[in-house]
Amino acid sequence: MSPAHSVLHDVFGYEQFRGPQADIVEHVIGGGDALVLMPTGGGKSLCYQIPAIVRQQAGRGITVVVSPLIALMHDQVGALREAGVAAAFLNSTLDWPQTLDVERRLAQGELTLLYAAPERVMTERFLELLDGLHARGQLALFAIDEAHCVSQWGHDFRPEYRQLAMLAGRYAGVPRIALTATADALTRADMVEGLQLQAARLFISSFDRPNIRYTIEEKKEPLAQLLRFIGQEHAGDAGIVYCQSRKRVEEMAQALQGAGIAALPYHAGLPAEMRQAHQDRFLREDGVVIVATIAFGMGIDKPDVRFVAHVDMPKNIEGYYQETGRAGRDGLPADAWMIYGLADVVNQRRMIDEGDAAEEFKAVLRGKLDALLALAEATDCRRARLLAYFGETMAPRPSSNAPARRADGADPASAGGGNEEHSQATPWCGNCDNCLHPPAVWDGTDAARKLLSTIYRVHQASGLAFGMGHLMDIVRGTASDKVRQFGHDRLSTFSVGAQYAESQLRAVLRQLLARGAVGVQRVTLDGGRAFDTLTLAAGARPVLRGEQSVLLREATAAPRGARKSRRQAPAAAAAQLGPDAQARFINLKAWRATVAREHNLPAYVIFHDTTLAAIAERNPGSPDELQGIQGLGSKKIEAYGAQVLQVCRGGG
Ligand code: ADP
Ligand code: ZN
Repeated sequence: MSPAHSVLHDVFGYEQFRGPQADIVEHVIGGGDALVLMPTGGGKSLCYQIPAIVRQQAGRGITVVVSPLIALMHDQVGALREAGVAAAFLNSTLDWPQTLDVERRLAQGELTLLYAAPERVMTERFLELLDGLHARGQLALFAIDEAHCVSQWGHDFRPEYRQLAMLAGRYAGVPRIALTATADALTRADMVEGLQLQAARLFISSFDRPNIRYTIEEKKEPLAQLLRFIGQEHAGDAGIVYCQSRKRVEEMAQALQGAGIAALPYHAGLPAEMRQAHQDRFLREDGVVIVATIAFGMGIDKPDVRFVAHVDMPKNIEGYYQETGRAGRDGLPADAWMIYGLADVVNQRRMIDEGDAAEEFKAVLRGKLDALLALAEATDCRRARLLAYFGETMAPRPSSNAPARRADGADPASAGGGNEEHSQATPWCGNCDNCLHPPAVWDGTDAARKLLSTIYRVHQASGLAFGMGHLMDIVRGTASDKVRQFGHDRLSTFSVGAQYAESQLRAVLRQLLARGAVGVQRVTLDGGRAFDTLTLAAGARPVLRGEQSVLLREATAAPRGARKSRRQAPAAAAAQLGPDAQARFINLKAWRATVAREHNLPAYVIFHDTTLAAIAERNPGSPDELQGIQGLGSKKIEAYGAQVLQVCRGGG
């Protein structure tokens, strides 16, 4: 067994490296620089923790982990200590004597990993400590977590990260590993440049998260839809609900509480202590739903978040993917559920248009929003689209009778009697709304052209742009006061789309906004009242010319009832257990809660649900039978083995 593998097994209690972990770990142990792009939950931490331990064992000294968040440092260090690794952090939560103590242990080589925020690392005091270690060959590795914070295109830009570039020169020869879950090309280039990682080996994992089910629905009554979603599919589960504004967070949290759900608000407008308290409860208690703006989440590594719901649309796919990626880190089934509507599209467009960013920057933002809109409007596999955005292609649906045909060597076309399904070539994941319940599609090209020509004519006739209600009135032939006031009932397009329901036209407009055929302009009236108007944009031309068709999903209620049977078990991890094992699982959870409270750590830092479920299933009767359970390293067996056996025997 290689040293890395021994550490994986003995310290962390895992049998095998996942995906590219083994290569990354070997490369870094060997002294190479690395840039690691791995989705949330992929297992980035081990990529530097194992090299840190192995290099320390080889007498090379300490690993410094640069991490942007205090909460994250606390829990990661707690988890390492539980596994018997000498780890510490330096941050503002330590008082002066505690700080001095950590610094002393650092200087004396007693630590294997030290976590610190970038601004701490850049202090002269800290750098001098590092100089001393470096001079004695006791600086083993730098790990830069959440490395996308270096990029100003990213959503978590931290200017301090830019200064980390100097580590390359000042500590030449010390390997550096940078890790992130954000992978688009712009951010990647920024990380290489901003962190001086030109010589680093790039490790890109698949960004697929097969256990997450993606669902995007039309927004009708957000609260009722959210309550139905949680009530039917996630009662008692931990989850995150993302909203766009503080006000909305407050409203939603209150409404959920009113419905008996343990929901807590989180946004930048709340006092810091309250935010902290809510985050702690979310991390430490079972089944808390946090309702938050995007201020919440970076570094939240709670593994058993069962759903992430977006009741407002995020700004781009990177943000959406990061946020949804917080669901199901433990690999068990989880949901990413979003509702979005025309107002979301209009709002996001306008926020970009009216922001004071440079035009070049706005163009980038618009492109990113368009990609997200296309995802939301898609009638084909969501996962395929998400992965395509990150440069990955997904395999097409495996044909159920393909292996038989290959086995007998027959020509597929003749063997299939000419009934080959053409849809075989389209990507299919089997775990998104569109794959599970392919939506009925209708051709909205005619409606789209009628809307576009109306926008054009209205503008030509009056020189003014109008809102969507007005435009739809014209197309549907509703002679409202306003329509008559402007003489729009005399336009040639008046009532040309009388056959369409308002909801259909709305869907068409959303689609037209999504593909840049229609733009949004905010108009302020004399009285100061402002409203959004629609204008023709560059993407209108191919639709008007009949070069592009507009396909839309039929607005039917999603057939979600069928999914109810999916989860009857009390917890996803225990879903497969028989009744006796269920009972042991529940007892083990209660025991774990006591230990977690005593250690002031989240429960999952002590043991994951999956580990407890594995113990409950095996029902160990002796210390030997604890060996080889996933997540049970030797240190944890030593510390908790006896208690675990006792709980399984039915003792408290
Ligand atoms: P990331 O930082 O990439 O989001 P983490 O490092 O938090 O992911 O790992 C996600 C989860 O997967 C953690 O609970 C971790 O313990 C688990 N994990 C990581 N590597 C392995 C492995 N090789 N075998 C089993 N579980 C693993
Ligand atoms: Zn799919």
